[in-house]
Amino acid sequence: MKSEITIVGAGIGGLSLALALEQKGINFRLYEQANSFEALGYGIQISPNVVHILEKLGLKKQLERLSHICLGFQLRSFNTNKILAEWKLDNKTPYYQCRRADLHQLLFDMIQNKGRIYFSQCLESYEQKDNHLYLHLKNQGSITAQAMVAADGINSVIRQSLFPQYQVRYSGYSAYRVILPFHRKYHFLWGKATVWMGKNHHVVVYPNGNEQSPESWLNLVLVIKERKSNDQSWSVPADKTALAQDFANHSNELNLILEDMIESPEPCFKWGLFIHEPLPYWSQSKVTLLGDAAHPMLPFQAQGAAMAIEDAYVLAQYLSNEKEMVEESFIKYEQARMKRTGAVQRLSRRNADIFHASGIKALTRNLILGLVSAIMPSL
Ligand code: FAD
Repeated sequence: MKSEITIVGAGIGGLSLALALEQKGINFRLYEQANSFEALGYGIQISPNVVHILEKLGLKKQLERLSHICLGFQLRSFNTNKILAEWKLDNKTPYYQCRRADLHQLLFDMIQNKGRIYFSQCLESYEQKDNHLYLHLKNQGSITAQAMVAADGINSVIRQSLFPQYQVRYSGYSAYRVILPFHRKYHFLWGKATVWMGKNHHVVVYPNGNEQSPESWLNLVLVIKERKSNDQSWSVPADKTALAQDFANHSNELNLILEDMIESPEPCFKWGLFIHEPLPYWSQSKVTLLGDAAHPMLPFQAQGAAMAIEDAYVLAQYLSNEKEMVEESFIKYEQARMKRTGAVQRLSRRNADIFHASGIKALTRNLILGLVSAIMPSL
């Protein structure tokens, strides 16, 4: 029998790993610092690469029930509202958009052995000694572990201990998030993810829920290049009127949404986007990193949670090999995942430059996007 795996962090990555391990018959313990899950209403896009995995983990029916299906993407000019490129999705495997809190809850609900999940347990530090790991928990004393996976997010204590020289830094971009109840006038946004691109700004809009249902809503992410942001919290309230002025443009459709945003009682929150340089490796003996703890990325490809779920699934596959020591499984997992996650990190960064281009770069981008979508209208 393989070692018991201790997971730190019950975000989307940690819960996916717990579920994948359980389904492989591998014991786990999961420690989460929060005393419950935050019921954040914001949306998350779940691309086919990860829908495929979630279906293997047994979430197919529940995902279908909870999600809005995205049938295509639309890129528009921030200044003229012109559609610059449009792609239809073939949807052999669906591209879903749902509430982040719903996906989180779904993963939690699927785990049978909930007694192995411990809330209000914050890891402060750990040591590896005599072939054992000692985890020091805030106000809870110490516990031993056989092997540990850090799924504790971008500020991972474990990553900081392994790589003190890799400091998290502000990326230069801030995201403002708000939701609006869906209204018939937004019909042109149904079934899509739409991006308005402009100099130093972009806006991503996608619906969630069922068009006929009073509980469906629009999910807005307004991204702006800003010099400073010291706050990494996901819940810094933003001034919606000032924000709408920053994003005001010539597009009636977008201005309509921004006006509704100001009038809506829904709060708007600012998320400073933070990153660090890619790590040289993720595993050291009986410890490895997963999800944002290993490879935080800008959200401009909507792949951060997707990569965490892929990591979890791949890691559980390697750990299920009875013939291998846990250290070997960790190394194989790292080798299987680093190239892909590194490429996605780079592409996400490049999308920021593409979305925010101006002048001749924007003209060139528009020309290329138009050509590519004409030649290849579906993905
Ligand atoms: P986290 O979600 O950060 O979870 C870490 C967990 O560890 C938390 O529960 C935390 O409380 C716990 N923890 C932390 N420290 C400790 C400790 N010391 N002890 C115990 N527990 C601890 N991704 C997508 O795939 N699709 C999208 O559409 C998408 N949209 C996004 C939009 C925005 C604006 C942003 C900012 C991100 C978006 N992402 C998206 C990225 C995605 O949110 C993250 O990549 C993903 O949540 C990472 O999951 P994780 O489990 O690795 O980390």
